[in-house]
Amino acid sequence: MTAPTTLAGLETAGALALTDELRTGLHELYRHLHAHPELSMQEHRTAELIEQHLDGLGIENFRCGGTGVVGVLRNGEGPVVGFRADTDGLPIAEDTGLDYASTATGTLPDGTEVPVMHGCGHDTHVSVLLTVARMFAEDREAWAGTLVLIFQPGEETAAGAAAMVADGLWERAPKPEIVYGQHVMTGLAGTVSLSVGSAMAMADSLKVTVHGRQSHGSQPQDAIDPVVLGAHMVVRLQTIVSRELDPRQAAVVTVGTFHGGLKENIIPASAEFTLNIRTFDEGVRARVLASVRRIISAEAAASGAPEPEIEELYTFPACYNEPAEAEALAGVFRTALGEGAVSIVPPVMGSEDFGHLAAAIGVPAVYWTFGGHPAEVLDGGGPVPVNHSPYFAPVMEPTLSTGVNAAVAALAARLGR
Ligand code: ZN
Ligand code: ZN
Repeated sequence: MTAPTTLAGLETAGALALTDELRTGLHELYRHLHAHPELSMQEHRTAELIEQHLDGLGIENFRCGGTGVVGVLRNGEGPVVGFRADTDGLPIAEDTGLDYASTATGTLPDGTEVPVMHGCGHDTHVSVLLTVARMFAEDREAWAGTLVLIFQPGEETAAGAAAMVADGLWERAPKPEIVYGQHVMTGLAGTVSLSVGSAMAMADSLKVTVHGRQSHGSQPQDAIDPVVLGAHMVVRLQTIVSRELDPRQAAVVTVGTFHGGLKENIIPASAEFTLNIRTFDEGVRARVLASVRRIISAEAAASGAPEPEIEELYTFPACYNEPAEAEALAGVFRTALGEGAVSIVPPVMGSEDFGHLAAAIGVPAVYWTFGGHPAEVLDGGGPVPVNHSPYFAPVMEPTLSTGVNAAVAALAARLGR
């Protein structure tokens, strides 16, 4: 029998503690979710499962942004705090060998049938937040205020948070003073990491269509070659980071795809490429985006080609941890989880749409990560299965309990009596 953990910020011994019974329920829920992942914005059964759990706990809830679910747990006068868990899986064929591995399939928006896996660990987020909801619903003496539980679809496509906000999230739910979120990540299970200030980069994805003039491959004099022109664009785009930006400012410009032509002896009419831009600072972002447009336009002009088309595919907002809130939360985590279990880390170039939720109402947010790997995997000398790998398999414990304890500690620090 494991002794229940008592968390800092709670006066009552044993209040809001993760008992063996709760932990068993958490594991069952996690295994079920892991075996039944769904693609972004198609999380229908996941949303139904979340609704059933919230209904069972007597927590009022509503659908928001299609397959999003919001639970509102009211417990008298007190602060309002938001907590977000993303719910979507990925088009990946799971290869973990786990007995609860997914064999699910799904259909992408373009009609392609694909295998589906919880390859980013969002199943840990959902099972953890539902367990936290149960703990707060069943232990009302320990806290006061309102907990807004945000089960957000479509994180992987940057669609979900924006869809929830557009669907009236903050008109329908009480406005929180802060929004929290957490993510399972490559790292030692039992530990949490957070950044003070920027946590993750903004991301902009663009699709460029380069127009030329089609001709026989032997007659360049009659053509404007979009492949050569596009290649110049790709090369010149590399100079934005290396030759235009202050070296102390972080940015990435990646051209991830390039397609042009069907046959080697035809100069095609057009070529297409997509690029992905990562930045932390709005000023740097504006400058990079302007440089991208200038270079693409000017390279086309240099070739005598028509103006290319630039389509915005998607944008991830900033993921920014309000420094004072992040510092305070690090202290809460150290008390709750142990001094050695908490790291302050630099921001990463990855992106998240979590930031939309708080930014939409101008309140602070804090986002942290919890590790999902045992030491023998991290230190074993072999490749570590990271998020989005077909081998990504967070060890259930202490990963899930740490997710619960971190979330409860963060919430209890504001809501605890
Ligand atoms: Zn992901
Ligand atoms: Zn994720």
